Amino acid sequence: MTQSNKGFFDSFGGKYVAEVLRRPLDELEVAFKEAMVDPDFIYELETIQRDYIGRETPLLFAETATRLLGGAQIYIKLEGLANTGAHKINNAIGQCLLAKRMGKKRIIAETGAGQHGVATAAACAKLGLDCTVYMGEVDVRRQQPNVAAMELYGAKVHAVTSGSRTLKDAVNEAMRDWAANPDTTHYVLGSALGPAPFPDMVREFQSVIGREVKREAAKRKLDVAAMIACVGGGSNSIGFFAPFIEDESPRLIGVEAGGIGPGIGENAVRMSGEAARDGIMHGYKSRFLLDEDGQALPTRSISAGLDYCGIGPQLAALGRKGRVEFTYARDEEALNAVKFFARNEGVLFAMESAHAGAEAIKLAPTLPKDKAIIVNMSGRGDKDVFITCPVFRREEWLSFLHAEIERLESDKDIHDAKIMGESK
Ligand SMILES: *Cc1c(COP(=O)(O)O)cnc(C)c1O
Repeated sequence: MTQSNKGFFDSFGGKYVAEVLRRPLDELEVAFKEAMVDPDFIYELETIQRDYIGRETPLLFAETATRLLGGAQIYIKLEGLANTGAHKINNAIGQCLLAKRMGKKRIIAETGAGQHGVATAAACAKLGLDCTVYMGEVDVRRQQPNVAAMELYGAKVHAVTSGSRTLKDAVNEAMRDWAANPDTTHYVLGSALGPAPFPDMVREFQSVIGREVKREAAKRKLDVAAMIACVGGGSNSIGFFAPFIEDESPRLIGVEAGGIGPGIGENAVRMSGEAARDGIMHGYKSRFLLDEDGQALPTRSISAGLDYCGIGPQLAALGRKGRVEFTYARDEEALNAVKFFARNEGVLFAMESAHAGAEAIKLAPTLPKDKAIIVNMSGRGDKDVFITCPVFRREEWLSFLHAEIERLESDKDIHDAKIMGESK
């Protein structure tokens, strides 16, 4: 099951949208299929992947980690070295190039934690497209560093004030905008979910990760026993797994956010959690965390990128079939993985990716030394200082923040720099 059958992955997927969105989705599907077999488009895509994103990203042998854990060889796909710091740029650039080819001048996107908004804003800046990012008002307040980055890239950030004022409301608002402006506007969806053709399209743009890994693993003659990736909506994992799905091995392991425990509202475990069920939301059928009335339940995770209430339909289907195995890592295990790989490999995992790292730490010692496991480090952890510092160095971080506030309120240098910025 490498791609959908008319938008469906077994019983999951589909295109459950209002009538007004049918035509833009159908047009998008046709344009996408044509583009992917057009050598000019592929050339343009590969050139920008190389020169702007910085592909291909390295596959690192984690030698010290391997020795310390005493089992299978651990390899880390350093996807976090991609420009803007994570895999999300692969999809943003792909979709923006496609939009340009379709003659669209305006891009909209939804964002929760802000990572997809930043990637889309950067891609639009690079490609000269107008960009509006819908973001819940609550998230705008919580995620100021990402809001600032989006604005620096020239995007307009639209604070959504409906509903719970978070990600799901931003998705609804973006869909409404698209339905009203389909001729001028393309909606860049941020993960391998939503109505068809998004799950297929996002997977294809992300599968560059898996293709590079497959080529490199063959070149180095690795005997790969398992591939491990974290799963939010599912874009980094499905892109990492894609070229291996039809093979019998390696094991493909998806790691969801175990949060602080198994209770409802304490995690984002969509494949096996207590409140996990089949449902339809945001235009597609999949596994969601829902209450008995079919409403989205609150989720919890230390990593902002893994706390969406649904999972991509292809992963849901592959999970049910057993080709992809699902497990989860708790907040604490992810934090420990951040420390472990920073200290022993000089690699700082994003909190999301650290969930995959945590599973590697558990799995490696159970496998023989001549086997390899490959972990996808979907992003780097620089963005997470506001999450990791309050945990690892609470007192120091508090006094740093107090000092920063004082400095901002009094410092003449910052004031002068601002005036200089305005005069440009
Ligand atoms: C957004 C994000 C994720 C989760 O999204 P997927 O679509 O599941 O890949 C994982 N890692 C990082 C670094 C992210 O920014």
